[in-house]
Amino acid sequence: MNASLLPNVLMGAEPAKDPAAAPDFLLAVDALTVSFDGFKAVNDVSFYVDPNEIRVIIGPNGAGKTTVLDLICGRTRASAGSIKYKGQELTKLTESAIVQAGVGRKFQTPSIYDDLTVFENLEISFPRGRSVWGALTFKRDAEVRDRIHEIAETIFLKDQLKARAEFLSHGQKQWLEIGMLLIQDPELLMLDEPVAGMSVGERIKTAELLNQIIVGRSVLVIEHDMKFVEDIAHRVTVLHQGKVLSEGSMERVKNDPKVIEVYLGH
Ligand code: ADP
Ligand code: MG
Repeated sequence: MNASLLPNVLMGAEPAKDPAAAPDFLLAVDALTVSFDGFKAVNDVSFYVDPNEIRVIIGPNGAGKTTVLDLICGRTRASAGSIKYKGQELTKLTESAIVQAGVGRKFQTPSIYDDLTVFENLEISFPRGRSVWGALTFKRDAEVRDRIHEIAETIFLKDQLKARAEFLSHGQKQWLEIGMLLIQDPELLMLDEPVAGMSVGERIKTAELLNQIIVGRSVLVIEHDMKFVEDIAHRVTVLHQGKVLSEGSMERVKNDPKVIEVYLGH
C-alpha cells in the first residue's frame, strides 16, 4: 500500500483529487478514423469504456466494428485520432506491445491448436518469462497447473483437459480460445462475434462466463444476437457506416428510432 495515502484512509477522507487528471476510463477512443484508399471504414469514432464494464458494439455488416478492434489491437494503423488504454496511447505501439500492456483479442474464427489437448492449449498460452530462475521451475509448474485448472473451470472445460482440441464442439472451441486469452489475464478483453454458430444453451453459458470474468477487467464484444447482447451489455455502442449512430443502455438503444431504421428494423 502507498504509505502517503495512509493518513487519508485512516481519517476516512478521500485522497485529494487532481482536477487536471484524466477520468479513469480503461479505454478512451477519441475521434478515431481510418481510411482505406480514401474510404473511411471508421470515421471519427469516440467511445469510453469503464473498468469492469461489458461494452457491446452492434451494427450492420460493414459498419466498421471489426476494424475498430483491429485498430485497438494494433493490427491496423489509425489515420487519425487516439486510443488511450489506462492513459497510455496505443496508436503508436506494436501489436505485441499492446498485448503486453494487457489487451487480449479474439478473432472471429478460433485459433486453437487442434492436435494439442485442452490443457496444452492453455499451457502454451500462459505468459512466459515471469520467473527466469531454474530453481523456481517446480514452483512455477504448480502455479501454471493451478491457473490452468482454474481457467478450465471458468470456461466449462474442466472435464475435457485431456481431450484433444479437435474433438471439442464448436462452442467449446470458442470457450477454449477465451480461456487462452484469460490465462494471460488481460485487463481489456475483446471478442469478435463469440457466440456465432453456438447453440442456445452455449450462448447462455457464454453470457454467464462473460458476466463472471469482468472482475478486474473490461470486455469489448461485437455481437449480432440481441438476446445475448441483452444478457451481457452494460452499455451498447451502435456503429453505422463507420460512425457512432447511438449509444447507451440496451433499453435506450433498442428504442432509438435511428437504430430501428438502420439495424433492428429488418
Ligand atoms: P463489420 O465488422 O462491422 O462488419 P468491417 O470493420 O469488417 O465491418 O468492415 C468495414 C468496412 O471496411 C467494409 O466495407 C470493409 O470492406 C472495409 N475494410 C475493412 N478492412 C479493410 C482493409 N484492410 N482494406 C480495405 N477495406 C477494408
Ligand atoms: Mg466484423
